[in-house]
Amino acid sequence: MSLCPRISLKPEVTEYLKSVFLNKEVLAAVGHQEAESRFQKLLTCLTHPPSYTCVRASTHLASLDEIKHKLGEELRNQQMCSSSAEQVSLQILPHPQIPDVLLLPVYGPRSVKQLVSEVVVGAQCGSAVLRGAHVFAPGIIASPKYMKAGDVVSVFSDLEGKCTRGATSFQGKRVFVGNGVAEMDRSSIFCKNEPPKGIGVRMVEPLYQSPPFDGVLPNLVFLQNLPSVVAGHVLGPRPGERILDMCAAPGGKTCHIAALMGDQGEVVALDRIRNKIDRINQNAQILNLRSIKAFHFNSTRAVSTDPTQKTEGPPFPPESFDRVLLDAPCSGLGQRPNMANTWSLKEICSYQPLQRKLFHAAVRLLKRGGVLVYSTCTVTLAENEEQVAWALDTFPCLRLQPQEPHIGAEGMLGAGLSPEQLRLLQRFRPELSWDETEMTAPLPCRASRDTIGFFIAKFLKN
Ligand code: SAM
Repeated sequence: MSLCPRISLKPEVTEYLKSVFLNKEVLAAVGHQEAESRFQKLLTCLTHPPSYTCVRASTHLASLDEIKHKLGEELRNQQMCSSSAEQVSLQILPHPQIPDVLLLPVYGPRSVKQLVSEVVVGAQCGSAVLRGAHVFAPGIIASPKYMKAGDVVSVFSDLEGKCTRGATSFQGKRVFVGNGVAEMDRSSIFCKNEPPKGIGVRMVEPLYQSPPFDGVLPNLVFLQNLPSVVAGHVLGPRPGERILDMCAAPGGKTCHIAALMGDQGEVVALDRIRNKIDRINQNAQILNLRSIKAFHFNSTRAVSTDPTQKTEGPPFPPESFDRVLLDAPCSGLGQRPNMANTWSLKEICSYQPLQRKLFHAAVRLLKRGGVLVYSTCTVTLAENEEQVAWALDTFPCLRLQPQEPHIGAEGMLGAGLSPEQLRLLQRFRPELSWDETEMTAPLPCRASRDTIGFFIAKFLKN
């Protein structure tokens, strides 16, 4: 029995999503019952973590086998030092189709007994715990009044963000994510003088068991969702090219692109949030990638009005790049696990215009014959297939291209795209395999289906 059955959304957002997943084209193709069942499965699978952890291996620095071996050793050492009563078997599998991916199964939901002492954490922290993390002190919102380091506590995730910071108990909507041992006293967690740092609760009996990756082989493995790794391969960067990553922070895809190019060429990474640029640079440094140049910039303004201008940073003259990745800011409704989203419908629908502005800049900055990849981690039509239909209409120079690898489903019906066009799109749809028989499929097969919700379109500019 699942402890977090369906994602909690505002009723207006649930209705909107239902109208997307039960749109006329879908109903005509699969019927009402199947469309409704897929929608309900989507709402359920969003609250559960994918059944494996995906790590991208730095195959520009070592072979996949070497990295797999080192990772196994490191995680076994970690397990031996851990205070967890229960040790789970450690399996690391290469992905059958993606040469730089290693998969580690996630075990859960396990049967864990809830305790009397309760710590409440924010929803984001709760989701991280479900993916194998410990509880970091800034994520703690409430704890027992006399909690001391060493106390054993149950950890709950506050679904609606209604728990008051510093509370001693909370009776609102919450979900149990496992048991752990406090590493700090309550007084240090809610200390007024300085914000707390480090692990607040070390998880010993998590609801979902997977290795915590904190500081594990930082230059050789990078935690990344499988569809994000696929997006890097679909872009297909080659050594010596000049690539633009328009919305780059924290730089997961930027670093992958540079690694795929053997660090030969130039990867320009832009992001609108200044302090996120440090994260891109840190990640590039840890992974030993020198071809990345990160700039704080609003990418909607990244096209220079002076075509003769030649500077290292933005804005850039039109047709400056061989390939452009537009991993767009989006409503993020494909993220898993996600137990609650408190956004209004207005907020959910606010991304389409921004994505179009970014798209305009992307097309102008791309050379003729260049490749543009558009991706999102959301499930709406408005931010995915409708954007593709709009782009094909608005930019006659763009043609949809086949994707390699193509391990997700095709595009979803509902935006008026032809069957051929839909086949060229890649939509990761965990709801399509969310049933009992699929849950017992061998891991590498499940790994390609039981992912976050994600969308990829690849265009060529003629
Ligand atoms: N590609 C990233 C990765 O793989 O690590 C994730 C990117 S995230 C989906 C979207 C990013 O777009 C956010 O970091 C956000 O700050 C940035 N962003 C939003 N609007 C932007 C704009 N107008 N120009 C540049 N970056 C923007």
